[in-house]
Amino acid sequence: SRAELKQEQDGSVADRQSSGEAVGKAKEPEPEPEPYSAQKPPWFPVRPVAVKDNIATADLPTTCASGILKNHQSPFEASVVEQLRSTGAPIIGKTNMDEFGMGSHSTNSFFGTVTNPPPFDRLSVGGSSGGSAVAVAQKLVDIAIGTDTGGSVRLPAAYSGVVGFKPSYGLISRWGVVPYANSLDTVGILARSCKQVFKTFVSMQEHDPKDPTSLSEKSRMRAFTSGSNRWRELSDQNFKDFHKLRIGVPEQYNIFELDGRTRQSWQRTLMLFQDLGCTIVPISLPNTQQALPAYYILAMAEAASNLSKYDGVRYGTRSQSSDGAGDVLYSESRGEGFGDEVKRRILLGSYALSSDAIDNYFIKAQKVRRLVQQDFDRVFSMPNPLRDPEQFDLSEMDESILLNNKLGPSQVDLIVCPTSPTPAPNLDDIANQRPVDAYINDVFTVPASMAGLPAISVPLKRRPTDSPRFDGMQIIGQYSDDYRVIFVAHELE
Ligand code: GLN
Repeated sequence: SRAELKQEQDGSVADRQSSGEAVGKAKEPEPEPEPYSAQKPPWFPVRPVAVKDNIATADLPTTCASGILKNHQSPFEASVVEQLRSTGAPIIGKTNMDEFGMGSHSTNSFFGTVTNPPPFDRLSVGGSSGGSAVAVAQKLVDIAIGTDTGGSVRLPAAYSGVVGFKPSYGLISRWGVVPYANSLDTVGILARSCKQVFKTFVSMQEHDPKDPTSLSEKSRMRAFTSGSNRWRELSDQNFKDFHKLRIGVPEQYNIFELDGRTRQSWQRTLMLFQDLGCTIVPISLPNTQQALPAYYILAMAEAASNLSKYDGVRYGTRSQSSDGAGDVLYSESRGEGFGDEVKRRILLGSYALSSDAIDNYFIKAQKVRRLVQQDFDRVFSMPNPLRDPEQFDLSEMDESILLNNKLGPSQVDLIVCPTSPTPAPNLDDIANQRPVDAYINDVFTVPASMAGLPAISVPLKRRPTDSPRFDGMQIIGQYSDDYRVIFVAHELE
């Protein structure tokens, strides 16, 4: 976390001073700096990375910001951590977050609320990957890794003024990532530029046999038909194609609760794309309104199931207050270890899965999820490769298959909308909110999660007259159109 990093920095300075090293140094002449070529690799490019604390690291604790895992040290490393290390990136810290990823403001942490330094310290940094967003915003690191189940990379990116990218589901390995809601969980990237996001994404998007939902190498080759992983080539190509690009504006996202400033930023962004030669197309995603309640039912149900293993016996800190066995030990360990929001979700999730409620809640929510996916598949001109994996190669696809697969005539290539309905809210206002008010914040990020689509949040260029609150604009693409999402977002930087 930022606090830990700060402590570490302060600590090392203090250590040096107390050991008299600084005094000693003053007496001895400075050693000659080594010539650059003699320095040990990898001096360049060194990209210090911070990792969200629900991603397993063997050298640092992995707590998920929960009391129940406060002493947890993973014996192994997540695949993404291994991938990052193999590029030479030092992992310099774990970042604070909402407990188990449950929250939108990074206020639900065992270690306390994540905040930005003044003058933004009373504003939400967004959640649940708030620590990662702040570490990037404050330049403690160039890149931070987060997880996005329903918006947890995009929302903190928007509220902290950085870029946050959630890839298509299954492109980055989830092995070693503590699950919140497996069918929605993705690993995402936070950075200060789209180029840094792209480079990190390229180094991490590969098949991982340890993750059963990881997209196979064959499907990846078909998906990324561009044939290049080079920023320069792809971004030039993309720029040339701008005049062909059709940008969708979903009418259902123009909600009553949309903040005036956010609506204005949205209009400004669309005008910018129009100036670049894109066509702006109004579209309808009729099941948007149901997406949010359905998301919360599914996420809570999966969470209740995932968290059942933390009972003080199999996993998790055991309560000291009881030497009783069975139910008492379980309930005391869980009662002490979990925070309020996690308990609320376990209760609601268990209810949604109970025999009385499963048909009306869980099964209905699954159906809504299908409809949300179909909404997207209908409007995107690119077919969803997951609908018909054999026909993944678009160049070989004939028109009739394309239309069958597509559920309707193609309308747009990408969707542009705000990341959240308002700029970063005030922490004092959040403290007085009901839990569902925090859930409403996710209304624009959840649909892409339900459909497993790539989406990015980019901070808007600020003008001197703008309010000092951060706000982000979101670009959503069809499944596996991740590169284009990043390149088009780059034009907004
Ligand atoms: N705010 C959402 C939730 O609490 C999203 C969290 C996430 O993406 N991890 O479920």
